[in-house]
Amino acid sequence: MSLAVSDAPRFTAPGAARIAEEVFGVRGTAEPLPSERDQNFLVRAEAGGRFVLKIANSGERKETLDFQNALIERLAERCPELRFPRVVQGIKKEGPFFLRMLTWVEGACMAAVSPHSDELLASLGRALGQIDRALEGFAHEAAHRTLHWDVRHACLSRQHLALLPDHRRRIVEARLDECARVDWRTLRHGIVHGDANDYNVLVDGGRVVSILDFGDAVHTATVCDLAIAVAYAMLGKRDPIAAARRVVEAYHAQYPLTEPEADSLFALAIARLCLSVCYSAYHAQTAPRNVYLGVTDAPAWSLLERLGEFPEDWPRDVFRRACGFAHGRTAAALLEARKEHLGPSLSLSYRKPLHITHGWRQRLFDAAGRGYLDCVNNVSHVGHCHPRVAEAAARQMRRLNTNTRYLHEDLVEYIERLTATLPPPLRVAYLVCSGSEANELALRLARAHTGRNDVIVIDTAYHGNTNALIDISPYKFNGPGGRGKPAHVHVVPMPDAYRRPACGPAEVRDAVGRASGVAAFFCESALSCAGQIILPPGYLREALAAVREAGGLCVADEVQTGFGRAGSHFWMFQTQGVVPDIVTMGKPIGNGHPMGAVITTPEIAASFANGMEYFNTFGGNPVSCAVGLAVLDVIRDEGLQENARETGAYLLAELKDLAGRHPMIGDVRGQGLFIGIEFVRDRETREPAAEEAAAIVEAAREHGILLSTDGPFHNVIKIKPPLVFSRADAGLLLGEISAHAADGTARRDRDRARDSRYPG
Ligand code: PMP
Repeated sequence: MSLAVSDAPRFTAPGAARIAEEVFGVRGTAEPLPSERDQNFLVRAEAGGRFVLKIANSGERKETLDFQNALIERLAERCPELRFPRVVQGIKKEGPFFLRMLTWVEGACMAAVSPHSDELLASLGRALGQIDRALEGFAHEAAHRTLHWDVRHACLSRQHLALLPDHRRRIVEARLDECARVDWRTLRHGIVHGDANDYNVLVDGGRVVSILDFGDAVHTATVCDLAIAVAYAMLGKRDPIAAARRVVEAYHAQYPLTEPEADSLFALAIARLCLSVCYSAYHAQTAPRNVYLGVTDAPAWSLLERLGEFPEDWPRDVFRRACGFAHGRTAAALLEARKEHLGPSLSLSYRKPLHITHGWRQRLFDAAGRGYLDCVNNVSHVGHCHPRVAEAAARQMRRLNTNTRYLHEDLVEYIERLTATLPPPLRVAYLVCSGSEANELALRLARAHTGRNDVIVIDTAYHGNTNALIDISPYKFNGPGGRGKPAHVHVVPMPDAYRRPACGPAEVRDAVGRASGVAAFFCESALSCAGQIILPPGYLREALAAVREAGGLCVADEVQTGFGRAGSHFWMFQTQGVVPDIVTMGKPIGNGHPMGAVITTPEIAASFANGMEYFNTFGGNPVSCAVGLAVLDVIRDEGLQENARETGAYLLAELKDLAGRHPMIGDVRGQGLFIGIEFVRDRETREPAAEEAAAIVEAAREHGILLSTDGPFHNVIKIKPPLVFSRADAGLLLGEISAHAADGTARRDRDRARDSRYPG
């Protein structure tokens, strides 16, 4: 049975003061405290001391109050680290209302404490774990009741669903459905506090010292108690799952959860928020003046609406880890094992490496419950773990996966669809497994077709990890461990409009002149490792002409730039108004599935068919083709090229605006969702600000935004997110960059002011 809010007592403060004096012998003043269906007053005794006068709802049974008193006494006795009230003189009566007087417990309400530190959240879990442990085995007749706030009866809130606007109703319905799938028989039951919301939690000295208000204590699934605390602990947090994890971990240390409890916890916590918003919608009609009833509404909706950002099983996975149920190792253990068994010529991103366990759309999620906006992983082109791509791979993997020496529908459909994205005569495809394989093959095609050997490349370019490709990658052969430029390779400077405005295609013509026979000019259609450089208009047209005049071929490396990222065009080379002889593809082509492709003309392909077979065991296998087709479908169906155009243009314009205000940003450039921000120490000298850019990347990681640097001076922050990146995401990123740029500018001004005060 539930008590009606409309039956709540309505005493005035003087009336309450009178009761305190006449019934309990405590003379003093009374002031009302918030409550849903009872009335509570803070009584300040004239003789000193503070009390809470509790006037129960007229529908309340005496046994229920007996139960609450017994509960308080048990907790006071068994939880020595926590503070609980003392019951003064038992249960009294005034008219139809039962009365109780409790001593006041010192502490600040957790809802009023901000921010919630990790230690505070852990202390909440600890306190609740101690309470639930103390209540184990506690029995009372009156605890067996149907309370509408009991998460076990979440379904009761469905009667109010009609009061919610459509999109919110759908969210709540789906979450209540999830809660309905919980198998309650697998959960332990017992008496619990039942309302560890942050208005009932008291904090002192940065930790939780008490959890009050026993009005919702009930016999239910024990884990509901933690679910409620977790539900409120998540509200208003940038990383709600991380906040929840702190509570869960500490609770588990006091009072271990079972696996079924850990697994159902998140669904129950969310169900509690659903209850809250449903009853709030109901009370908004019946008791519009009771502000207490609506206090969690806004943050609860904000979280419920954000849930779609999270991968489905991630919160559960985080909680399982927190309880030691997951088989996974800690980040430290992973790092150690990696050091021992993984080839060491590979660095990890970030000073504090990330332990990512899940991905969803433009976000990555770690083992500790934090989410990150991914601004750099261009491989997950249509969004991390896109369900259509995953499903296509899984379905085909179950049916058949073999090589391309058999006829297969998907292979043919895929090469038809892929070549159709390119202008003629680019009609012949080779399917491989990586960008490196694609460029390696492109090099062989060019040499076979031209009968020549030399290659022209742009400075700081990277084309792949094989022997032949390291030789044509200045990024590597001129970098640490590199052995310098081989004789057959000719490097032209980067046509970097910011640092070398005079640089252009004439330098390609010069290189052609130096070569003893050019097989190919390898060129990214926009330079990625070189610092997100957009080629000047006309660059490729003139460069291609020079190379072709000398009988060489032009290879457009679209490994980073292809598949709609350019926004205005599907392929970045199209922004230059040219048609290359060979196009190489990788990264986004399979949305993370290892794939690559080379597309060329029938003529070049014919030159390569000299009798030696080209066989690639995995290239073009049915699973890869199914994946490739799904990627093309999603790009089309979700309008991702269009999004790259619109969101990219917005982000670029806003970044340019930032650059105008912050001297630390020397240059901003980009095309679609391929953008670079170049940081400098001085606008005049353009001294690269590499350390500053690296510091921004590290700080942004702490704030949940993933970035990275590149370019010959490592001072360019590159932005190349999954193409589902939204305007709201751009807003977050802009806020982050702006804060750091302002900071850096202020610091530089401070340094300058200091230097001018102390010259020399
Ligand atoms: N070309 C370019 C432009 C690249 O950026 C890369 C990879 N970073 C490659 C080729 C090689 O691709 P993969 O790592 O798939 O072999």
